[in-house]
Amino acid sequence: MIRFIFYLAVSVIKVHFNNLLSRKRLLKNTEKRVLRTIRRAYEDVPYYKKLYDEWGVDISEIKTIDDLRLLPCITKDEIRENFPGGIISRKNRLEKCHYSATTGSTGKSLPFVFTKSTFAFYIATGLRMYTMIGYRPWHKMVYIKYTKLDYPRFGPFFRTEHIPSTIPVEQQIAQLRNAKPDLLLGYASIVFEIAQKLTADDLQHIRPKFIGINSELSTQHQRDFISQVFGCPVYDEYSTEETWMVASQCREGNYHLYIDNVWVEFLDKNGKPARPGEQGEMVLTTTRSSAMPFIRYRIGDIGRYSDSSCTCSLGYPILKSFEGRSDDSFILPSGKYISSLKILNTFTKYIKKYLYLMEEFKIIQKDSGFVVIELVRGSEYNDQHFQELVDSLHAIFGEPVTISIEFVDHIEIKNGIKRKAIESWVNNRENDTVLTSAV
Ligand SMILES: [Zn+2]
Repeated sequence: MIRFIFYLAVSVIKVHFNNLLSRKRLLKNTEKRVLRTIRRAYEDVPYYKKLYDEWGVDISEIKTIDDLRLLPCITKDEIRENFPGGIISRKNRLEKCHYSATTGSTGKSLPFVFTKSTFAFYIATGLRMYTMIGYRPWHKMVYIKYTKLDYPRFGPFFRTEHIPSTIPVEQQIAQLRNAKPDLLLGYASIVFEIAQKLTADDLQHIRPKFIGINSELSTQHQRDFISQVFGCPVYDEYSTEETWMVASQCREGNYHLYIDNVWVEFLDKNGKPARPGEQGEMVLTTTRSSAMPFIRYRIGDIGRYSDSSCTCSLGYPILKSFEGRSDDSFILPSGKYISSLKILNTFTKYIKKYLYLMEEFKIIQKDSGFVVIELVRGSEYNDQHFQELVDSLHAIFGEPVTISIEFVDHIEIKNGIKRKAIESWVNNRENDTVLTSAV
């Protein structure tokens, strides 16, 4: 623990120091780290060695960050198939690493690990996003997530409280009333769901100074609505479970790409670098995860970058828009809004509880009261265990909804880079009429 706190203190200083650097200096530092990551991965991670040899890559020719394009991209499937032996560095002992898994929004679980020092750096980059928007150590942070994180606390400083994302909204509001957050963090659709349910009395008790939303695409309308209900600014963050902080909004409202943590390429349809402002597939390369490096990792998100500067003093490049991760949320027969992330998190919870229960899934709301789960069963599938998950969904819905399970061999991938795990044929999201009527 003492070692972890040391790593954390160093990381916090480091990431805040980076806020002072020019874009040129940041790019130079990132280039150095990316090149080191590639070299080490080639030496110590069997899958990268095999892949690069098969592609005939001469590692000594990778001399600048632009040379990254000489390397093949990797996909989530390749990582899954090679986990753990092929994709984890031989230099790291698995039992000493922090282990996690994610469903992302594609419905396929991805296991991954990182070292304690990487974890400390990730927490520091998260903290930086919050200090940028006004968070101070004496503020109380409440985060809504499917799992509790091991945040250290120092007496009255860095107080945190966890609220599960998978419990019904009424319970979340009750817990928020007790927790009284200064900084509230949570998935966009879940905070939106809470904002819709709050009463004037609730708002006497829940008075955050700022809100950070994360993990999924949100509309400006959703953010404005949340801001209006809580009477405080709302900042958006783009992070992934496997690489942590990718970008977040500064006080000017611009998204900055945290290239000291992860380098982002934007590729056009032909795999060539997209121009500023042009839509591109985002491909990530981590700079700090030595135990399990992600190099040219196709996360499946789409975005555009800008080569302009922000009026705030930060040197990190600007993410002009982020267009990935559009899961559909559900509108039930009574008009009740259920966050897609809450449904997804429920699946994640049971994937963690019963590791081989399911291989893949897709949830489709075909009618307001009718939901179909397409399920590729895992090697240890069990009716009873899956029924637990279905019961949790019924508890979240809180009203009669038929849930039908269809066993399939595979989930079909339709157009688009990322297959959606959750889809609603009822709710045309991004549709302001639906959102306005919810107000
Ligand atoms: Zn800025």
